[in-house]
Amino acid sequence: MNIRSNITALLKDLPDTCRLIAVSKTQPVEKVLEAYNAGHRSFGENKVQELVPKYEALPKDIEWHMIGHLQSNKVKYIAPFVHLIHSVDSVKLLEEIDKQGRKVQRIIPCLLQVHIAREETKFGFSEEEISQLASSAQLAQWHNVKIMGLMGMATFTDDTGQVRSEFRTLRSIFEKLKATTLPAQFQLEVLSMGMSGDYKIAVEEGSTMVRVGSAIFGERNKL
Ligand SMILES: *Cc1c(COP(=O)(O)O)cnc(C)c1O
Repeated sequence: MNIRSNITALLKDLPDTCRLIAVSKTQPVEKVLEAYNAGHRSFGENKVQELVPKYEALPKDIEWHMIGHLQSNKVKYIAPFVHLIHSVDSVKLLEEIDKQGRKVQRIIPCLLQVHIAREETKFGFSEEEISQLASSAQLAQWHNVKIMGLMGMATFTDDTGQVRSEFRTLRSIFEKLKATTLPAQFQLEVLSMGMSGDYKIAVEEGSTMVRVGSAIFGERNKL
């Protein structure tokens, strides 16, 4: 696997409107450095216990994206530096992010993860829960979170029609939400959808941020 040429090929493939997050989970820091030395600066991790040591070991101009399920009690470890949390899947978690943001005097950028897949196991809000959150009195009191958009994961399947329809659903929720009057905590700009296997479909359906791991780094090391 040539990390540099994989990134170059991907960037050529993506429209200017879509950012590439290199998902470096399970990859050693040497591999991340290889991508860094190729000029890449945005990386995604799905575990706090892996994200923090990599943040500490690697250059400080890297933008770190938290893309995996986040437990409330771990928010404090990433609050000082995380660039964007893609995986906010509950009101309770958002409240904790606000609290930790206040402590470190940051407004922490977040995406709300929406459940679009058929699988039961994927976390996330429903469309209705997002509407409820947007109009809740609670949210109005939180000044250390900024909801920058939505994130979703499609069903793991070969049925590209199914995948496309799930991405289309997410896009439509995003557009509907953008057309609504929302509290100041919302600044909707990012639609995070698409991974190695389905980023092309995601881009066609309006993704502004793809999270790509194995198509850059090769197969992941099993932990
Ligand atoms: C691992 C992961 C990715 C990247 O997966 P690849 O198939 O290796 O591109 C993207 N998003 C999330 C949330 C992930 O956990």
